[in-house]
Amino acid sequence: MQDEPEVAVVRLGHRPGRDDRMTTHVGLTARALGADRVVLPDNAAKSRDTIEDITERFGGPFSVELSGSQKALVRDWDGTVVHLTMYGERVQDVQDEIRAAHGDEPLLAVVGAEKVPFDVYEAADYNVGVTNQPHSEVAGLAVFLDRLFEGRELDREWVDARQRVVPEETGKTVRPADEE
Ligand code: SAM
Repeated sequence: MQDEPEVAVVRLGHRPGRDDRMTTHVGLTARALGADRVVLPDNAAKSRDTIEDITERFGGPFSVELSGSQKALVRDWDGTVVHLTMYGERVQDVQDEIRAAHGDEPLLAVVGAEKVPFDVYEAADYNVGVTNQPHSEVAGLAVFLDRLFEGRELDREWVDARQRVVPEETGKTVRPADEE
């Protein structure tokens, strides 16, 4: 988030067609819950376009990149690398240490799709489980970011939005962002 060291999310692996929705949701969740950017595999252009469209309409700052070298990004990251996996240490046991590390340096959160190769487990500073049960990269990422930011991401200000949702008890109101 603004005025804090960067938080980036990298999505490992993408099967076009089958994973389109999930990869898009990884990016939308990263954006909505306080990350600064997402790096998607280079065959995920469709997901990138959807995330960019949402950012144009509902605001940023948030950026989306395609990359063919996900593993190099993880290996060469200058900061803390957190790999989310059901096999990892319990998030509730390591969240304070990770938050303290992120106070001083950028953080890269890594999520998989299919089987994640073991060298990613070795390259990570933390392998973190959001429960040690199998579920989804979207759910794991959401809980992790909320723990990292301690809920501050929910009050984040959006910049350059064309439209905004009016929170209300019942109804679905969307207004141009420059209208009160
Ligand atoms: N079975 C695959 C493996 O062994 O690497 C993982 C497949 S899972 C559907 C896809 C991704 O969801 C994982 O790579 C991980 O990032 C995330 N994930 C699933 N369960 C998780 C959990 N309990 N905690 C954190 N992340 C989880």
